[in-house]
Amino acid sequence: MLNRKNLRFLTITLIILLTLSLLLTSCKKYGRGTNGDVSQGGGGKGGQQQGEVTPPPGGETPGGGDEDGDGQDGEDGTGGSVGGKDGGSGYVYEPYVWPEDQLVDYNGIVEHLFFHQMIAYPELAFDGDVQEKGFDDWMVTVSEFNKIMDSLYEKGYILVDMNDVWVEQTDANGVARMVKNTLRIPQGKKPLVISIDDTCYYQSYMGNGFMEKLVIGDDGEIWAWGHDPQGNEVMTQELDIIPAIDTFVKKHPDFSLNGAKACLSLTGYEGIFGYRTNTDSHGLTPEQEAFRQSEIEAVKPIVEQLKKTGWYFGCHTWGHIRLDSSRYGVTGVAADLARWQSDVGDIVGPTKLFFYPHGGRPDGDDWHKTGEVFKYIQSLGFRVFASVGTESFSYIKKDISAVICDRLHPDGTTLRHARDQYLQFFDAKDVFDYQWRPEKYGMDF
Ligand SMILES: [Zn+2]
Repeated sequence: MLNRKNLRFLTITLIILLTLSLLLTSCKKYGRGTNGDVSQGGGGKGGQQQGEVTPPPGGETPGGGDEDGDGQDGEDGTGGSVGGKDGGSGYVYEPYVWPEDQLVDYNGIVEHLFFHQMIAYPELAFDGDVQEKGFDDWMVTVSEFNKIMDSLYEKGYILVDMNDVWVEQTDANGVARMVKNTLRIPQGKKPLVISIDDTCYYQSYMGNGFMEKLVIGDDGEIWAWGHDPQGNEVMTQELDIIPAIDTFVKKHPDFSLNGAKACLSLTGYEGIFGYRTNTDSHGLTPEQEAFRQSEIEAVKPIVEQLKKTGWYFGCHTWGHIRLDSSRYGVTGVAADLARWQSDVGDIVGPTKLFFYPHGGRPDGDDWHKTGEVFKYIQSLGFRVFASVGTESFSYIKKDISAVICDRLHPDGTTLRHARDQYLQFFDAKDVFDYQWRPEKYGMDF
């Protein structure tokens, strides 16, 4: 007889069984980098309706080539199922606050440096394979990054939020334009924006000496997860650029104004932060879609924790597409950015910051020009359009509410060949990783 008491007993038993099986599944998933225990997309090449997908290291410099050349279409997203632990155990970030009388108005140049993921294990990145040159060109090693950060701090730089540098103002006629903000910064400090491109933990980096995803540790903080060269699992806050910046600011709270960290500029074709939140143009089976949804749920706490600790996000297009090519047009760009919005934007929230893949502006180097593609991207709400250059250039457009700017790029290329341009930040001679960088690519000092 199924009376009330029995029913209650049954329900409780069911709940216990369900919880146990869920626990078992998640333990299994947490056990090891079983990349691809649920796989998406079937590893097919081609059929990419949005066209070019170029996993960096792709030349972010205007005119830079697609040197990664691995032709990966970025849609065979598998991905480890590790991490995404709902830390929650209250790590609270308390930014340093200056007394008002120690702050001064600042209207000068705000310097802007950008990085990529950093090389945790140079012996894997610089192993002579086809990707080596790209990693050498576009990445820094941990030791280089730490020296750069020490130098920036010693020289009085302080991190500011890129969203605070310019604001949109609407005049009496209802016309909106961007204006430069007067920053209030500590006396003697120099404001600096840092952005980090392609923090998606691409498949093509796996096994090449990079961390593989962000996770939340038991302490509630952001950690990076991956494998060392021997294949052992690693949880680290030193070997990945995101927790490394957290750690640096913790050590030097006066390196951050109002708690600002850096902007994470994201593509969408392999998801974000190592979580495969991306759709597939071939469609997903129900199983694959369920996996995608679980990845979305797993990355949400990471995004929340990043936001709470001073990080903010920007769009780097869904497919890392070249906007300086006529290949896409407004229709192609619209399709790419709609996909970015659903695969990434809906997870990270609204952003006004746009980072051109390969540094390629749709209107080329004529920043006075406002072409159809530019107008379209601006109409989506983006206001600051960052490219790559030899100085922290910026120009407020007069005909439309937008700012065009350039960033400098500390990496192998500039460490080797642009020491003078970067002396205000660091001396490449002191920073350069002589132990690991291949000699064959030369240097100018
Ligand atoms: Zn990029």
